[in-house]
Amino acid sequence: MEYPGNLFVVAAPSGAGKSSLVKALLELDAKLSVSISHTSRAPRGQEQHGREYWFISPDEFRAKVQRGEFFEWAEVHGNLYGTSRGAIEARMIQGEDVVLEIDYQGALQIKDIFPYAVLIFILPPSWDELQQRLIRRGDTQTEVIAQRMHNARHEVAQAQHFDFVVINALFETALFDLKSIVHAQRLKYASQRRNRSNVFRALDLIED
Ligand code: 5GP
Repeated sequence: MEYPGNLFVVAAPSGAGKSSLVKALLELDAKLSVSISHTSRAPRGQEQHGREYWFISPDEFRAKVQRGEFFEWAEVHGNLYGTSRGAIEARMIQGEDVVLEIDYQGALQIKDIFPYAVLIFILPPSWDELQQRLIRRGDTQTEVIAQRMHNARHEVAQAQHFDFVVINALFETALFDLKSIVHAQRLKYASQRRNRSNVFRALDLIED
């Protein structure tokens, strides 16, 4: 499947700083929009239906899977998560750049459907630092932290299947790296031809 806009997929183990980085990236770049996923997990803290996620029951989720409403879906830490076609297809058809903040299983499914998707994996600088960040977050119990650290071993091993790796040691550096990836993608020939067609036309690189 191919749409005119760019599709960026960002994955990372829990605690690597993915959400904060994507949030900062979106604030800096008005041309990017994030897809709001569906999940079967309950809202946490200040989370709102339709803002962080569309919160639905496991049964509703499975019904959507049956109806083929998801581009990808996966079970992560015991809950179901999915990217619905409705969430991104219209924007991608319009040529907008979309970011998916999903787990590695979903990212690999997206790459199968959209081979041109840009897969970015965010790594923590060390196991120690990852654990400290999970503890500092304060909303995660000790057993959950141990489970997340265990899962993270398997998750980071998937980075080899991604196009880019950003190491989040220093937030500002990692954000700069992410911005650079988005920028470089927009400078690719196909993207420039699409978005700067006036220049291409003036240089006779596009025939009317
Ligand atoms: P959390 O429950 O902490 O918000 O998210 C848990 C994990 O699920 C994170 O790695 C997050 O990126 C991932 N996730 C969120 N939405 C989706 C989705 O639509 N599809 C997949 N495959 N993973 C998702």
